Amino acid sequence: MGRIVALANQKGGVGKTTSSVNLAAALARMKKKVLLIDMDPQGNATVGVGVDKDELELSAYHLLVKENSALEIIITTEIENLALIGSNSDLTSAEVELLDKGEGSGSYNLKEALQPVKDNYDIIIIDCPPTLNMLTINALTAADGILVPVQCEFFALEGLSDLMDTIEAVQEELNPNLQIDGLLRTMHDRRNNLANDVSNELVTHFGMKVLKTIVPRNVRLAEAPSHGESIMDYDLSSNGAIAYLALANELIRKTKI
Ligand code: ATP
Ligand code: MG
Repeated sequence: MGRIVALANQKGGVGKTTSSVNLAAALARMKKKVLLIDMDPQGNATVGVGVDKDELELSAYHLLVKENSALEIIITTEIENLALIGSNSDLTSAEVELLDKGEGSGSYNLKEALQPVKDNYDIIIIDCPPTLNMLTINALTAADGILVPVQCEFFALEGLSDLMDTIEAVQEELNPNLQIDGLLRTMHDRRNNLANDVSNELVTHFGMKVLKTIVPRNVRLAEAPSHGESIMDYDLSSNGAIAYLALANELIRKTKI
């Protein structure tokens, strides 16, 4: 059974896309069959795996709103074992079109659209946009688990309670099976006392939900997308690649994918 994992945090720039792309690539490298879904109109995850977002004929927009089948939309990438449902600015209007469907019925579109392909993959990873909008609600409704990237900085904890409230509301109203697969500390700098304090505070607040793997600040991770490559292809020996391979292992152990 394929596990659907959404990477979500309404805070911008915390490492959702970097983590989606590189976790997906790490799992693919470990011979897992992976589908990456870009749910952000910015299309950064699409570009991050080397696909030209402006050349997409069909995208996440068509999956959510136009009811094209997932099989029509999924494309292969240069990365072995990694397939993609890409996204671009077409997805911007999906929010309004989904809300137009009224009374919560627009929340299940992604879940229903993935049903026919879910078991073709070991894991489906969804990169969410930096808002708690209908795109994120669709992702959380479809997901078995949520991974929350958190940047270890002063305002990191602010906003996490809103996210936890949203997760609870989704669990109550839309998806009782949604689990928190973990909080992932990103862009961590060991030499920075504040980062260490925030990291410790996260563990105090969230205990076992905080993943053991910590993603360090690593310039290679920031460079890789401009080459359309995951860190596995761009620099396998970098600390960033090592962290995302460790994350993949931790997730495999934790969720039995
Ligand atoms: P958004 O909310 O806009 O979707 P995001 O949460 O997806 O952002 P990313 O795009 O992954 O965040 O990361 C934000 C910026 O930080 C990017 O420029 C990315 O290259 C950089 N970055 C992410 N993780 C790291 C890291 N571990 N080390 C160095 N730079 C990083
Ligand atoms: Mg992003």
